[in-house]
Amino acid sequence: MLILTKHSLRPGSDTSDLEVLMKDLDSLRIRPSAKVRLRDIETDGKDLVKDRAEYEQSFITLREELIELQARLYAESKQKLLVVFQAMDGGGKDGTIRSVFQGVNPQGVVVTSFKAPTALELAHDFLWRVHNAVPANGYIGVFNRSHYEDVLVVRVHKLVSENVWKPRFEMINAFEQLLTQTGTRIVKFFLHISKDEQKKRFEERINDPSKRWKFDPADLEKRKLWDDYQAAFEDMLESCSTKESPWFVIPADQNWFRDYAVCRILVETLREMKPRFPDPPDVSGVVVR
Ligand code: AMP
Ligand code: MG
Repeated sequence: MLILTKHSLRPGSDTSDLEVLMKDLDSLRIRPSAKVRLRDIETDGKDLVKDRAEYEQSFITLREELIELQARLYAESKQKLLVVFQAMDGGGKDGTIRSVFQGVNPQGVVVTSFKAPTALELAHDFLWRVHNAVPANGYIGVFNRSHYEDVLVVRVHKLVSENVWKPRFEMINAFEQLLTQTGTRIVKFFLHISKDEQKKRFEERINDPSKRWKFDPADLEKRKLWDDYQAAFEDMLESCSTKESPWFVIPADQNWFRDYAVCRILVETLREMKPRFPDPPDVSGVVVR
């Protein structure tokens, strides 16, 4: 059961917001085989906290730690982290990647944005292009959209039939199991926004010349299918959140709350991975001339 249902998480009066949230971030994780009803899950972080400034400050501190942990992961070069983002259009995938990974050494982070497949990609199995993009030892791989599009957009728009997309849940679980058993940690984020918030963001894209390039008229057609998409996301969350490869549902109407939550979960994951600098070579007697 998710604890973070609408209006259920209220900070106690004697604990700080952050303490409460730190304990409860795990409640954003979808338990394996849990029933998921997105309309019952909070999209709005601001209802959950008293002090936005505290979060923003904490986010900066956490990001410093992310930068440090990534440096160790890269130097160690023995394990890898795969971070997957999915959301409705306007859900904030690009913005999250920009702000959470700001300052992280770009040499060790590889972001892949998955678009509609090319003819060559379509001529292969749906995981072919995905496997090719997974991170190597030492790297953080970030997926902006992912193999999950192959049980989302293709399903909602009937690009393939049910007997094609349905077995993919199991194929995805097997694929992710292969990755985790060969040294990849996986965390998956569904950025959960409300339909009203999507409307606001589309209007911003239309009205702000610097954001207009992002406006895609096709997104309006997809908005009409909001309920079908939410149902497809629910199925994805119910079918593919495992102990080793969990999905987190992030309340994403507020960027600052979203960034904090994602960064916090990444830092906790990397802490568990315990990346360490390799033992230095013996430098006794070495002189640089
Ligand atoms: P954007 O992320 O806004 O650049 O848009 C990328 C587009 O590619 C979205 O409309 C996705 O739904 C679409 N897309 C990504 N992966 C797939 C896929 N496997 N099959 C069909 N469409 C896809
Ligand atoms: Mg788009």
